[in-house]
Amino acid sequence: MKKNKISKNWIIRQKRDIFVRQSKIEGYRSRAIYKLKEIDEKFKIFKNTTSIIDLGAAPGSWSQYIIRQYKKSLVLAIDLLDFENIDKVNKIVGDFTKSENKEKIKNFFNKKVDVVISDMAVNTTGNKNLDAIVTGELCIEAMEFALEMLDKKGKFVSKIFMGSSFNEIVADAKKKFKEVNIFKPLSSRKDSKESFIICKFLR
Ligand code: SAM
Repeated sequence: MKKNKISKNWIIRQKRDIFVRQSKIEGYRSRAIYKLKEIDEKFKIFKNTTSIIDLGAAPGSWSQYIIRQYKKSLVLAIDLLDFENIDKVNKIVGDFTKSENKEKIKNFFNKKVDVVISDMAVNTTGNKNLDAIVTGELCIEAMEFALEMLDKKGKFVSKIFMGSSFNEIVADAKKKFKEVNIFKPLSSRKDSKESFIICKFLR
């Protein structure tokens, strides 16, 4: 499909999408908020937590959700793209995979954290298999970082695509965490290969 046809279809779909409309009404920057909300309601991610790292945070709806629902949270959000500041959310603009940015995150907290969440994804190419591979790599890198950063009772949530690395990532997660679930929120588009891996408590 040609690029301008893809973007035309995207605009039509956005206008019809109830989650897009809902996010505008509620003042959230992206429909992605409803994925995190569903995950949180089902898996109680932020219960009794304070320190949270939001990887791939732009435009910021996940961080908005956390700070609205859990007012005492200390949130550090990072994205390749700059995004409008969110009151009481700390921000780093840069590539999470670069060691200097990982150092900045570590220095910011200077202790173990309660939750690492990642919605990181690269711009979709239209090739779903390739997208799944690249997003799989981001998920693996996010999990490795989470293992370094998390407290024993910590939680890790990441976008994961159904693709060649899926089984390997889940098997690895099960070795490192006591509880591992895969969940596709209702608000995640049905034609997307996206799901979320929810991991709790380090082994
Ligand atoms: N959760 C966000 C929200 O609620 O607004 C939406 C995130 S969006 C689906 C995915 C984001 O991942 C993009 O903004 C992209 O720039 C970011 N991303 C991809 N690779 C990254 C990397 N290596 N480091 C930091 N951010 C990255």
